[in-house]
Amino acid sequence: MNAIELQDITKTYRGGVTALNGVSLKVAEGDFYALLGPNGAGKSTTIGIISSLVNKSSGKVSIFGYDLDTQLELAKSQIGLVPQEFNFNPFEPPLQILVNQAGYYGTPRKEAFIRAEKYLKQLDLWGKRNEPARELSGGMKRRLMIARALMHEPRLLILDEPTAGVDIELRRSMWLFLKELNKQGVTIILTTHYLEEAESLCRNIGIINKGELVINTSMKELIGRL
Ligand code: ADP
Ligand code: ADP
Repeated sequence: MNAIELQDITKTYRGGVTALNGVSLKVAEGDFYALLGPNGAGKSTTIGIISSLVNKSSGKVSIFGYDLDTQLELAKSQIGLVPQEFNFNPFEPPLQILVNQAGYYGTPRKEAFIRAEKYLKQLDLWGKRNEPARELSGGMKRRLMIARALMHEPRLLILDEPTAGVDIELRRSMWLFLKELNKQGVTIILTTHYLEEAESLCRNIGIINKGELVINTSMKELIGRL
């Protein structure tokens, strides 16, 4: 089963910039996949299209076999998204943010509290659970974004530059968390600027340049070539 299947995706933004020019890509269930590329290459656009935040111009997308055009809600329910920018209510505390998020997906309240406790503890946010989110450090806010994306137990986690601006110590502990999550069966795709991050985390890698997927291979194979 493929977690993600993109067939010949193009995207031209209003104003005329062609961000993607025929991208095809398969990410298997259970994979840990990195999308690497320079600024403006089309990484965020690709992730935006997979998570249905950006409308494609043409092509087909399916998520665990659900077509994004005809089975949008089913496709979306498989996905947890961690966008680059913090978009939680800064006045709400983490525990409330997480429990509310589960509520959007119809998770019973008791179960929502159990999951929130689990992720707050795993991501070292438990001590801050009742502080307004704006009081958290940048790294904590980033971890809160990850916890929130997991509250409905998605099969696919999508992260856009998850460790941008995070110091190396904290980056390592986030890597461990993501690795463990992947071991438990969650398929992960992320974008990154750091080759080191892709190398230590990912099984497969795509390199995107000027809207085209120029390399799509295993991490092992790529490292062998360098
Ligand atoms: P990356 O994530 O690799 O930096 P993006 O997908 O953000 O690349 O951008 C790809 C191209 O599309 C860039 O030329 C960028 O300026 C353009 N672009 C991105 N978002 C928009 C938008 N909302 N409107 C117009 N152009 C955009
Ligand atoms: P609102 O009415 O506050 O916009 P939404 O249900 O649209 O409520 O989303 C609540 C918050 O959760 C928003 O900040 C949104 O960006 C975020 N969000 C929505 N869907 C997801 C998802 N699949 N994974 C992670 N965050 C999400």
